[in-house]
Amino acid sequence: METTGKIVGVNGNMITVAFDGAVAQNEVGYACVGQDGTVQRLMSEIVRIRSRLADMQVFEDTRGLQVGDAVIFNGHLLSAELGPGLLKQIYDGLQNPLPQLAAQCGFFLQRGTYLHALNRTSKWDFTPTAKPGDRLTAGETLGTVPEGIFKHRIMVPFVLRGAFTVKNTAPAGAYTVEQEVAVLTDSEGKDHSVTMMQRWPVKLPVTCFAERLMPADTMTTRIRPVDTFFPVALGGTYCIPGPFGAGKTVLQQITSRYADVDIVVLAACGERAGEVVETLREFPELADPRTGKTLMDRTVIICNTSSMPVAAREASVYTAVTIASYYRQMGLNVLLLADSTSRWAQALRELSGRLEEIPGEEAFPAYLESLIANFYERAGLVRLKDGTTGSVTIGGTVSPAGGNFDEPVTQATLKVVGAFHGLSRARSDARRVPAIDPLERWSKYKSIIEKERVEALRKVLRHGNGVAQMMKVVGEEGTSIQDFLTYLKGELLDAVYLQQNAFNDVDAATPADRQREMFGVAEKAMLADYPFTDKGAARKFLQSVTQAFIDWNQTASDAPEYLARRDAIVKTIEESTRHA
Ligand code: ADP
Ligand code: MG
Repeated sequence: METTGKIVGVNGNMITVAFDGAVAQNEVGYACVGQDGTVQRLMSEIVRIRSRLADMQVFEDTRGLQVGDAVIFNGHLLSAELGPGLLKQIYDGLQNPLPQLAAQCGFFLQRGTYLHALNRTSKWDFTPTAKPGDRLTAGETLGTVPEGIFKHRIMVPFVLRGAFTVKNTAPAGAYTVEQEVAVLTDSEGKDHSVTMMQRWPVKLPVTCFAERLMPADTMTTRIRPVDTFFPVALGGTYCIPGPFGAGKTVLQQITSRYADVDIVVLAACGERAGEVVETLREFPELADPRTGKTLMDRTVIICNTSSMPVAAREASVYTAVTIASYYRQMGLNVLLLADSTSRWAQALRELSGRLEEIPGEEAFPAYLESLIANFYERAGLVRLKDGTTGSVTIGGTVSPAGGNFDEPVTQATLKVVGAFHGLSRARSDARRVPAIDPLERWSKYKSIIEKERVEALRKVLRHGNGVAQMMKVVGEEGTSIQDFLTYLKGELLDAVYLQQNAFNDVDAATPADRQREMFGVAEKAMLADYPFTDKGAARKFLQSVTQAFIDWNQTASDAPEYLARRDAIVKTIEESTRHA
């Protein structure tokens, strides 16, 4: 029987409901608001239960909702629909497909309108792989369906507990996501009908794999300061805190394009109203560097426009990570990028305030840290039950007010992630982009280049930075030629390797092999013992090497002059150390 309730309090997007029957934390209910003779059903989620009272966040504008209005509970936790057809979609935080919603309601989204996340009429070519009599558990494969360039696995629903015997599978053919493709018998002899679509509660991690593994392999992004200096591992976590306008979104966009992963899930909670729209407009036009087709073919976008209530923002990161985990279960590498997690944290703050909880630092909930930790813990490299591996890598931006990293969201995130790509205001103001601070940032993961070699260059860079600081006081005249050379070497590394122009087609993306080759040349320039005695000559020389290097950076790897440009740089360095 359906559990129902009556609203006893309304406080913004929070309602308190007296219910009869049984309800559960995170269960979904619909608040019924009568308007113009029609009733709108507003989706809500239970966020706290106190004896017979449930506090619920409403994912819609609560205008018109009153004490005494009815709430109908549906018996399900807030869940995502999982199955073929997720790729290429643009969803809101509750997994409503936005283009379809706009087509149906126009651009002023009507509240109380919810659409199926997965199309109910399109058919997918199912090929069974399990056979009658097979013993299977949750997450194991029953058959496959081609979805774009991927073999989408149709799996034993993740919510099924225990072992099942395959009674039958549907013959190969085209089916909708609601048609039965297999029947499984449980240990008590009860049959379960399985379709290509399943639901999973978004706030719970998907755990039907064999074991968690330590992330080891580098997830190359073709961004030099990342792959070489502050790498991210497949299945790892990282964060990009940075002040407004420092380049967080550009960095994530370039990563979503070039990261060596199968699938990208973008959770966009825009800083500016127009920003999300820009992403939506640009993305379908971008080409996937690997297939040449549109990038959307391997992307899912979860987006919150500024007109949506904050509660949908709170849900969106969980919807995104659930979809990412689903594709991980197919043995794929998935990258989840959240921009910006500060907007998510603000939704949590608002929610907590409405619940009248005792606030923590800066009025964020006292349990903010554990929510952030739980979110990033949903990343990981796993060995699946069939022995293959899959991964979810999570990268989140943080946009602290004033760019001050000493605030709760940045600090809580830094405690749990494996790499820190903080952007510095000073660098972005000087147009040294990406503005990842090369001296202050860190990563616990393996670089594409040996650690000692990277550290050796960082040491020169650090020393050079120290010289630069000192020169501000004592001037060039008070600086020794050796120190001055170190300073120039640091500037060279910054200009030719750490800075990378996202808008230059060649420079924007440096594959790992090319990074290794570039690093080797940069190493020669950085570790050479130049016999200059005159600062002007030293500056002129290193600036010319820098310029030659930048020209080489902008030369396509398959261009005829590519090798000649590299050799010319190496030769210039070698000659200058021999005589001069
Ligand atoms: P944020 O998301 O941190 O507020 P954006 O990512 O929107 O900042 O970046 C602001 C601007 O800085 C961009 O529009 C772009 O002009 C410039 N920019 C940032 N990073 C780069 C980059 N790697 N290459 C070129 N330009 C960049
Ligand atoms: Mg941004």
